[in-house]
Amino acid sequence: MNMLNVLAVPAFTDNYIWLICNEEKDNLCRRAAIVDPGDAEPVIDALSELSITPTAILITHHHSDHVGGVSILAERYSIPVYGPAREHIAGITHPLRDGDHIILPGKNIKFNIMDVPGHTAGHIAYHGHGTLFCGDTLFGAGSGRLFEGTAAQMHHSLKKIAGLPKTTLVYCAHEYTLANLRFAMRVEPDNPDIRARMLEAERCWAHGQATVPSTLELELRTNPFLRCNVPEVIEAAENFSGKRLASEEQVFTVIRYWKDSLD
Ligand SMILES: [Zn+2]
Repeated sequence: MNMLNVLAVPAFTDNYIWLICNEEKDNLCRRAAIVDPGDAEPVIDALSELSITPTAILITHHHSDHVGGVSILAERYSIPVYGPAREHIAGITHPLRDGDHIILPGKNIKFNIMDVPGHTAGHIAYHGHGTLFCGDTLFGAGSGRLFEGTAAQMHHSLKKIAGLPKTTLVYCAHEYTLANLRFAMRVEPDNPDIRARMLEAERCWAHGQATVPSTLELELRTNPFLRCNVPEVIEAAENFSGKRLASEEQVFTVIRYWKDSLD
C-alpha cells in the first residue's frame, strides 16, 4: 500500500480543502484529487502555482463550505465529481454509497466509502492508504454538530471510524482542534494526553501551522466523543446531566449537548 502525499489548501476562516496527490515524480505532486472544495478560487490558485492537474473532486457532504467551488472546478477542468448518493448535490457524476470503492487515476489509489451520518443525513467518508477524509464527522479532539442526524447515528458513525487502524491519518475539514481541546479539558481535566495535545496545538497556533491531520490513536486518547466508554468521561457526563447514564450512546448525547451549550 503506497503512502499518500496530501496538501492542504486553506479556505474561508478555518476550512481545509485537501489535495490528494495521485501521481508523483521526484516527490513532486503532478496530479491530484480535490476534497471538499468549498471555494474554487484558492484551489485554482494552488493548482496553478504548484503546476498540478486536478483529476477528480471528492465530496463528503452537501454543506456550502464543502461544495461551493464544485461547479466552477468541474466545468473548468472537466473532471468527475464523487459524492454521497443520499444527498442532493448539483454536479455529482459518481454517487457513492457505504461499501463502494473508488479508484483514482495515477498511482492506482483506492478509497473505500463509509456512510457516517450525523452531521448531515447522507455524510460519507473516504478511507484508504492509511488515511481518512471524514469531512465534518470527526474533528481534532471533537466531532461535528448534529444538523440533520441524531446523536445515536453520530455515535454509531464515530464507532465505525474508531474501528479503523489506529495509525490512520485523520484529515478533517476544519481547524477546530484548539477550541475542541479546551472543551476536552473540561470533560477530562486530569487527562495528561489532552494537556500535552493542548500544548502542541497552542504551539501550532502560534506558528500558524495546521494541527491536522492527526492520528486515530491520538483521537482515541484525547477526543471526548470517542471516549464515551471511559470512566472519567462517563462521570463528567453524569455530573453535567445530573443523572445516571446507562449507555455509551447516552454519554455521547450528553457530551454533544454539553459542547453545543458552550458554543
Ligand atoms: Zn458541514
